[in-house]
Amino acid sequence: MTISAQPDFAVIGGGLCGRLVAWQLAGDGHRVALYERGDVSGSQAAAWVAAAMLAPLAEAASAELLITRLGAASLETWPTLLDQLPERVFFQRNGSLIVWHHSDRAEAPLFERRLRANAPAELLDGGLVALAGAQVGAAEPALGGRFNQGWLLPHEGQLDNRQLLAALAAGLAARGVETHWNTSVDDNALPAARITIDCRGLGAKPVMPTLRGIRGEVARVHAPGIGLTRPVRLLHPRYPLYIAPKENDLYVIGATEVEGEDMSPVSVRSALELLSAAFSVHPAFGEARILELNSQCRPTLPDHRPALMWDGASTLRVNGLYRHGYMIVPEVAGEAVRFASALLDGRVADEDAFADWRNNARWRELFQLDRGHIRGDARPAATLNV
Ligand SMILES: Cc1cc2nc3c(=O)[nH]c(=O)nc-3n(C[C@H](O)[C@H](O)[C@H](O)COP(=O)(O)OP(=O)(O)OC[C@H]3O[C@@H](n4cnc5c(N)ncnc54)[C@H](O)[C@@H]3O)c2cc1C
Repeated sequence: MTISAQPDFAVIGGGLCGRLVAWQLAGDGHRVALYERGDVSGSQAAAWVAAAMLAPLAEAASAELLITRLGAASLETWPTLLDQLPERVFFQRNGSLIVWHHSDRAEAPLFERRLRANAPAELLDGGLVALAGAQVGAAEPALGGRFNQGWLLPHEGQLDNRQLLAALAAGLAARGVETHWNTSVDDNALPAARITIDCRGLGAKPVMPTLRGIRGEVARVHAPGIGLTRPVRLLHPRYPLYIAPKENDLYVIGATEVEGEDMSPVSVRSALELLSAAFSVHPAFGEARILELNSQCRPTLPDHRPALMWDGASTLRVNGLYRHGYMIVPEVAGEAVRFASALLDGRVADEDAFADWRNNARWRELFQLDRGHIRGDARPAATLNV
């Protein structure tokens, strides 16, 4: 009898997307190996630095309808996913609050117009609540008396990114995924597997030349006593910022958005902008303790959409999650897992089958056939005779 030593799937990149895809495939009973260049914590991923806000309506100010719909659907899916993980992850669906200083009041109608133009009616209906000054204080007591107006987006959410990465790592172990931490995979020496799923984020640039990084910088501060209960976004013409409160008085303050793949530490200018803006939202941030200033690059494709790219053979690339990874990954990963399973069992083996699959997929806009990156089989032969 000949038993293949190859796993069904090799997932390359164990940041946000790779962990979720690997965990779900293993949950479906497949043999999965995961390769991550960084450590088990995920500290080399964009996912490590992110604020992990799940805000499809607020993001509609700058995102197209596809992203908003992916985000809205994913927000419904997150609780079910989190319930299956072996460790608890902080998740809340307590809304986002949008505020602005009086001098920046011209930003508010612009923001509202963009939302109304870009977001589907069902999200706007009851999802965008105008607040007068006293109502701002009623919604978010810490900000009482500080803002004359605001918007409450009551259905939005957030989670703790680092708790999620840890819980997924525990989930991978529980489901028997073969994990290779601190293992960088080279495109010329792919690990043995029947199907390869490339979730390397910006690390896939050598085979995805149109992929680019968009730098983001954040501050993590400890600020006991302020007590914000939901992410607060400050409208500003130059320094739009958010303050995302996590558990135990931890706040993630972010984020800059700068074209380029600069992974160097946070600049003085950005630190000043982030921290000053937070101080302007609540002066008690002046006494907060800075735990971390950090930067990472968001993996971004030219159209700012995520993509599932099949090479026509045995490789699927999942990339382009840009600034919406947490917000959309349940739907994107779900679609990737279904497609990868179809590749494995031969339901999709040629262009016609791919076209049929795409036409019937829930998120057909995500699928691309990209034969440009088909390469010779650089895998080691890996069959075991027993
Ligand atoms: C400052 C900032 C704030 C953000 N805030 C939010 C937010 O509030 N809400 C939201 O939804 N999204 C947010 N994001 C976006 C989100 O973090 C990304 O969209 C998401 O992390 C992308 O997931 P990914 O798995 O594709 O990439 P990553 O999370 O970057 O993971 C890719 C992994 O691949 C690994 N890798 C790379 N090359 C190799 C190799 N050769 N071999 C092995 N492993 C490799 C890397 O080490 C990494 O762990 C933010 C991002 C940033 C930078």
